[in-house]
Amino acid sequence: MPQISQACQPGNWKNKEGWLPQCAWEDDTYVPWGGKGLVLVKEGESYTTAFFEAFPHNPDTFIRGEGRTVPEAEQDAWNKFQRIRACPGHEFERRGYTNGCGFCKHCNMSSSKAFEPLEQPAPVLPPDEDDEPISPEDFRRGLEEVFAHILKRKVPEEGSRVEAP
Ligand SMILES: [Zn+2]
Repeated sequence: MPQISQACQPGNWKNKEGWLPQCAWEDDTYVPWGGKGLVLVKEGESYTTAFFEAFPHNPDTFIRGEGRTVPEAEQDAWNKFQRIRACPGHEFERRGYTNGCGFCKHCNMSSSKAFEPLEQPAPVLPPDEDDEPISPEDFRRGLEEVFAHILKRKVPEEGSRVEAP
């Protein structure tokens, strides 16, 4: 059984039904899922879909599956994983990313360390923010930074446009 994200543990708020992944993910694969992914369809309408993400270590990558339901999204992710595992040999290309991330031109596998970064790496967010409740100390520090920023800003003159930061 893969490592299910905290929010998706059976009985927790994203998984009241107690659903469990059906595919043979390895034990060290971290898997969050949910229903907030937004997919744009060709007709110009957008609709909300389910998503299932997997962070396997063999190989080390990130996979996102989508579907109308979470089980469908898991199957989509699993199919992508099988394609990655069947790849005869990865050949990475940057596809515009300058942070070292690359994508295999055969199986589409993403790797965060395919290349030497061309720029300072961006801070990495945890895969599922719901899993990492912010500590009271960090919350207070964050608030202080926001207030310090606000206090430093000039009050715009009457009628002038405020530029978004
Ligand atoms: Zn490949």
